[in-house]
Formats: sequence, C-alpha cells, structure tokens
Amino acid sequence: MDYRMDDTPAHLYPVSPNAGGHTNSSSRRTSRASSLRREFDVAPSSSGQQIKSPENPDPPVRKVIVVEPPSPQQLPAQASENLESSAPDPESGQEQVGWDFVLPFIPAPASLTPGPGGASGFNITTIVGALQHGADEQVVQTYFNYFNPMIIEQHINDSIAGVPAIFFAAATNNDRILRAFIAFGGDINAVHEPSQVPLIAFAIAHSETIEKDTSDIVATLLSMGATPRAIPEAFYVPYFRDLAEEGPSDEELKDVATSTMRWLNKEARAKLARTVHLTNRYNLERALKTKRPSARHWQIAQPQQVLSELLSNLAVPSKRPLVLVFAGPSGHGKTEMARRLGYLMNLQPLVVDCTIVKREIELFGGRDPYINAARGTPLNNHLAKYHGERSIVFLDEFEKTSSEVHQALLLPFDNGEYQDRRNGDKIDCSKTIWVIATNALDDKIRNFCQEHGATIWNGDDEVKQARLMKALSKELKEGFLSHFSAPVTGRISAFMPFLLFSPGEQAAIAHKYLLELGRKVRDPVKLSADSEERFVGNVRLHIHRDASISTSFTESELKMATQTVSIPKEQLAAVRVGGGDSATAPLKTVPVTLPGPGEILVKINWTGLCASDKSLIHDEWAGFGVSMQPDANGIAGHEGAGTVVAVGEGEEDRWKVGDRAGVKWIASTCGTCEFCTNGVDECHCPTQKNSGFTIAGTFQQYCLASGRYTTRIPEGVTDEEAGPIMCGGVTAYTACKRSNVRPGQWIVLPGAGGGLGHFAVQYARAMGMRVIAIDGGPEKEALCKQLGAEFYIDFKTTKDIPAEVVKITTYGAHGVIVFPATKEGYESAPHMLRPGGRAVAVGLPKDTSVVAGAPPLMMALKKLEFVGSVVGTLKDVEEALDFTARGLVHPILTKGELKDLDHYCQQMIQGKLVGRAVLKV
Ligand SMILES: [Zn+2]
Ligand SMILES: [Zn+2]
Repeated sequence: MDYRMDDTPAHLYPVSPNAGGHTNSSSRRTSRASSLRREFDVAPSSSGQQIKSPENPDPPVRKVIVVEPPSPQQLPAQASENLESSAPDPESGQEQVGWDFVLPFIPAPASLTPGPGGASGFNITTIVGALQHGADEQVVQTYFNYFNPMIIEQHINDSIAGVPAIFFAAATNNDRILRAFIAFGGDINAVHEPSQVPLIAFAIAHSETIEKDTSDIVATLLSMGATPRAIPEAFYVPYFRDLAEEGPSDEELKDVATSTMRWLNKEARAKLARTVHLTNRYNLERALKTKRPSARHWQIAQPQQVLSELLSNLAVPSKRPLVLVFAGPSGHGKTEMARRLGYLMNLQPLVVDCTIVKREIELFGGRDPYINAARGTPLNNHLAKYHGERSIVFLDEFEKTSSEVHQALLLPFDNGEYQDRRNGDKIDCSKTIWVIATNALDDKIRNFCQEHGATIWNGDDEVKQARLMKALSKELKEGFLSHFSAPVTGRISAFMPFLLFSPGEQAAIAHKYLLELGRKVRDPVKLSADSEERFVGNVRLHIHRDASISTSFTESELKMATQTVSIPKEQLAAVRVGGGDSATAPLKTVPVTLPGPGEILVKINWTGLCASDKSLIHDEWAGFGVSMQPDANGIAGHEGAGTVVAVGEGEEDRWKVGDRAGVKWIASTCGTCEFCTNGVDECHCPTQKNSGFTIAGTFQQYCLASGRYTTRIPEGVTDEEAGPIMCGGVTAYTACKRSNVRPGQWIVLPGAGGGLGHFAVQYARAMGMRVIAIDGGPEKEALCKQLGAEFYIDFKTTKDIPAEVVKITTYGAHGVIVFPATKEGYESAPHMLRPGGRAVAVGLPKDTSVVAGAPPLMMALKKLEFVGSVVGTLKDVEEALDFTARGLVHPILTKGELKDLDHYCQQMIQGKLVGRAVLKV
C-alpha cells in the first residue's frame, strides 16, 4: 500500500464503548495488549475502504463511519490526568528507585484522524494509546504520514506518564513500529526518567510481561546503535555463561556506575538475569565489540563491511563478471552471506542446487528443436531477465556437479556473454555476480580451526588473525585448484573462507532455533473437525540455563557432523606395560586403523571393566595357557559402547555412521562351523576372535569391530549401561537361563552384591525366580534386597550357609550360580541344592586345583547337575539389552575415566568396587 500525505483522511478508528474509559485499577497498568486488542484498519479510501471491528468483522456493505476529529487537548489531557498519580515520583530521595518494567495504561484514542489539513493535532499520546491497543505498523505509518516530519520529530521523544514514547513502540514487540519511531528521531538510548532504566533493559525484561521472546527488538535496538553498556557487562560477558538466578553478584557489579546501580536493585537484577537469555547476551556482547571486528565478526556479524568493500570494486567497469568462491561447511553462513549480498543490492539471488545439475543442458536448457526448449531453465531465464543489469547467481554445492557443467560455465565467466537457449538472443551478463559455494575444502578449514581456533575465536591479536586468514585463503585457493579443473579456477575473482563457528556461537545459533521453536509452539491451538491432525499450542516454553542446553545440543550435532569426515590418525589407548601382578595399563598414543571389508570402526564412549580384563592385564590365567595375544597390542577391554564412525566395504546395508554399537568379548565368529550354525553354541566357535584378548579391545578410543557380529544398542539403553551389559550383564543373564530354574523356584546367588551378582539378582527376579542372595555386610544386604532378593544370607555372620538355604527352601534350592572365583564357593554349592538341582559354574578361580562338582555319592544320590556358562550369544546379548530397554534391569555403576584404569583394577582386587566399573573413554 502506498500512503501519501495527500490521501483523503477518511480513515478511522472504530469506536468502542470502552474507548477512553478504562479507569478501573486492574486494567490500569497492563502490557497484555492482546486482551485489549482491537482491529485497526487505516486503509486509504482510494483502495476501497472497509471497516473491520470485532462487532463488525466483515461488513458486507461498504460503510463509512465519520468520527469527529479530536480536539488537541481532549484525550491526551484526560490520559495524563489519569496517569499522573500513578507515575513514580522522580523526586523521592531513595537511593534505589525500582521499576517493575510494566508500562502505564494509556486509554485508546477515539480516533486517529488528525485535524483538517493535517497541519495540527499531532499528539504522541494518541499514537501510543493506539499502539497499546493493538495498532499495527500500517496504522502507525498512516498516522505519521498525515503530519509534517518536523512536527513528529519534535514530539517523538516526549514522555507519557514519565515514560518516553519509544518505550511503548518497543513494547509492541514489532520491530517495524520501532524502526518507524527511530526513523523520526526516536532516542534508542532513552531512559525511563523516574527509575533511570534504559530502553534496552526494558526491551529485554519486557519479554516476561508479555510472555513472548523480545530478542528481535533487542537486536534491532543494538543494530541501530543502542549502547550495550547501559547494561553491566557482568550480565553478558562472556555471553555463553549462564547466569545465577539472582543475577551477577555484588562483587561482579562493584565497578558499575552508581547511576546504573540506582535502577538495578535486587528485583531488577533477577528479572534481567531471567530474561537476558543466550541470544540477547550474544547480541549484547557482539555490539560491545563491534568497534574492532575480528576475522570472525565479518563472517557472522558484519558481513556488510566485507561486502561493501567488495561492492566498491564493482564500481570499476569490467567486461568480466565477478566470480566469488565461498568455501566452508554447510550451515556456517554461506547462504546467509549470499542473501545479504542480494539484500544490499536489492536483488533476489538465483540459487542453483548443483547436486541435481549434472549436464550442461540441465543447467542452461536445451536449444531450439528440443522439447521444452521454449520454457528455458531457471538460470537461463534469470540471466535473460537481468540482461545488461546486475544480478546474482548462487551455485550451491559446486563440487557436486560435473566437469561438463564446469566447462559450460567458462563462457559466461569469461566473456560476460550468454545466448538465450529459448530464442538465440545474445544476453549481456557481464554484471552478473557468480557465487560458487563449495564444501569440498571443509577438511582444510576444519584443520585450520582446530589448529588456530583459540587465536581466531578468542584472541585479540588482529594482525595475527589477518595473517592467518590470508594464509588460509591462499591454501584454499591451492586446494580449489587441485580439486577443480584449471580453466574454472582461472576465472575466480576472490576466495572467501567460511570458518566453523566456535562452540559458543554454535550455542547462540541453536538458541535462536529454540526460540523459533518456542514461537511455533506458542501458536494458538487450531481445532479442525475434519482432520486427523492435531495441533499443539498455547504452551509456554521456559529455557533456563540456555547456554548449557544449547551447547550440549550443538556439541552433539557438531560431533556427528565432524565424525563423518574426520577420523584422527592417532588416538589414546590404555596399553599394558610390564607383566604379572605389577603390570599396569597407562594411556599411550597409538594409531587408528580404518575398517576393512566386513568391519566397522566404533568410537568408544564408555567401556566396562570386567574381572577378566584385570586377569588378562595381570596375566592371571597363564597357568591355563591363556594370555593376551600379540595382536591385541596390549589393549584389553570387552564391554564397549559407542557410535559407528566408519563403515567398511560390504557393511553399508547393515551399518551407517552414527549408529550406536556395542563391542563384546566375542568380537567375531566364523559363521560357518558346526558351533556357529547349530544356533546355540557360537560362543565355542574355534576360530572366534576375542576383544582385548586375541585382538585389541575397548580400552581405546577407536575400536575396529566385526560388522556382522557387533551388537546394535537399542533405544532406551545408554552407552554407560550398555557397556557393562556386553559382558557382565549377558554373562549373568545366560547363567540364569542355564540354571534351568523356573518361575516360582529357588535360585541361590553367592556373590549377589558383586559386579555379576547384582545383574543376576535382577535378571532372575525378572524371570520369575525366587532369589536367595549371599554376600557380606549390611550394605550388600540393602542392595540385594533393593534389587529384588527375597532372602539375604550374610556369609560374615552365618556359620552354615547351606543349612540356612535348606531352612529357607525345605529341600534345598533348585539352582545355584557360582559367581565367586573361590574354592569355598565351588565346595559349598552342591550342599545348597535339592535333588535334581543344578549348579552353574561362572567364576573362574586362579587356583588350578579348584573343581566344579560334588563327591560322586552325593552327585549320584541327589541326581545333581553341574554345568558351565560363558558369556552369551549375539541373541543372548540382544535379549539382555532388552531387559534394560524395558526398564527391568539396571547396572549399578561406579563411573571413572580410562586414564584411571589401574586404580579401578586395584579397587577390584581389594573388593572395594561397588557394582560394575564403567570408564569414560
Ligand atoms: Zn568380561
Ligand atoms: Zn565358527
């Protein structure tokens, strides 16, 4: 719409019974304009006039209501009379004059129509009143257009009830209204006189009053030059720091000017801390530092500076078009920069997605006899449309297209000429700006950021930053040259590297998305009778500690993004040093091996520490001829859980990067022998490989694993829980199955409070068995009972344990699983069993003389069974994990770090470990 000063002022403002009449105290001070919102429609008569109002939403008949122009004194006088009493008294001598950041209520004006000729009658209270009652930017513009700009400028900074008019403009949360005020000289650094609260602080805190995000208004104020210094730096430097609930401490605010401290009382401090969220903090800090734009700032904050520099080059006429290369990872501002470039030049850039353009004909279109030649392609038509004029073409993901397309671009790049495929007309495209965007050089940029991140992101040495950026541009140019064919590279006018965002900047971007989400979630609920769709809405989203949420959010995203492209050449692993009891496993740097056919590479997140790992590191089973094999490279561990970072040949259908995977004791089986194919005995495959025994295990960051035999970790099971289930969990679970104890029957679990035992109590219970737990001390008793044991026998205080079991069960238990790796454990087991009972051997004593069984007389007369059990099959592991996914079994974890492996081995030896030790890798 086009408003002109000479439009007939036949526009009006619908009369409401309430207009000007609000005096009751509850609605006196309000910022919830929505409840008072009315339709304002100020359309010029020339474009057909319609009146909309709640009473008359869509008048079928054109109707004109003529409202008397208000006398200049009438309404405003009334308003200020009403308000004066409620305005805080600026003369009160208190040290701190607080303000609750809520604007006074201004009555709605009866009309927005000025006096005849528009020469008189401008009244700031009129427009402020209309704003508070829902007038939009068109109403404001139209009203302003009635008057001489000088008259508006004279009054734009007037106060209404002690509050500058621009506060009311900011309170609309509509940045176009705010910009209209600023255009007429509205003071962006205005203060609320009685309290001295600056506009920027009001704009931030106001979000709480209207329960809407106001960061756009804050950003507008800052971009128009509002000083961030009006708010103490402690609130937003560094921007990625979450604030305490009560805001910065007195200590942090000790250098703040007394004039600021005057309004920044306890309540204001807390309110500001609640509302100055990550996006606001980022904008404030950025505004504070704009005087010295860093290499980073030009990219995300001040692209105009670089662009205007570039544009000044354009002033020199040339036959050759400008060809720019924007190099950098997706999502780091390339498209944004192209959009800004277009915005500055008032042009809509044409974006060509090069991933779908492989042939020259697809880019430019077929020539005449071809079908569809007459229609032309978007690029062809874009160039034709801007014949001889400035235009922008953005070639996104340039590396994805073919060299045929590269070649085809040479002509327009070179000569600034092009032939319209539709009709053969010659097109002048010498003024076209070509932007080539590419991710092909991401590795170079990533490496650069890794190496120089500290200097680029946080450093103050501008000279050094500039030098680094120059070196990077040069390196990228070389990279571009080797990646793309020479003819194309020869036409490039300039290279622009787009660096990765720092973690803090990533967080700020994530926060912006969260706010956007909040806005969407808050959209009103739509009920639709004939649709299955259901809409959520009217929800208030509170994001406290926004930086930490956004940071972890982006870190996980960033990790995923970087892992797909870069796997380091070296990593840390706990490698065995020395031998026997004194052996240790300190962290060492070892190479990372990429997966071969049939393999995947798993980035281990957590690894459990099993007693077998301790035994292998200390070579405890040498007596049985069982020692860590050379191919293990001294790296133990077989309870790993993490994420797939690379997939070897032939495993693409089974795994993709980002899948969660568990690495277990059996690393792989042959898949063809009798044991592998009988469906139950693959654990006895003679050519199996074992993690941390025959091949390197999970005590390393990047573990090679078999694609076929690695376990997929289900939803609902975390990595730190999944790790210990890979061996400890599945061993306990399989042993429970091996016991043959049925639901309602008795099972005895010696060592029930230990790493394996505490799993077994839970599985046995979940499988319906009645559990008698044996361990020492009241703490273990509490644990076992909590996990579901029906009886607890303390071996420290019970003389005859088998007798106690018989007392509980009448004839003895149906099963017993021997977890303790001790002679006593194996000797006492048969005595606890009833006739037909079964004992399961799981614990592996160092002492070679220990035998699992019973004296033959007892064995025969009681018809006992003794069986062994070792880990479980791939299927058993899946079943064991499923108990956890269903919330039935949870390992008790002692969490540590891989670097402290030796410490946890010692704890295990001393029996001090609670539950299962799991180490962060
Ligand atoms: Zn184990
Ligand atoms: Zn096999």
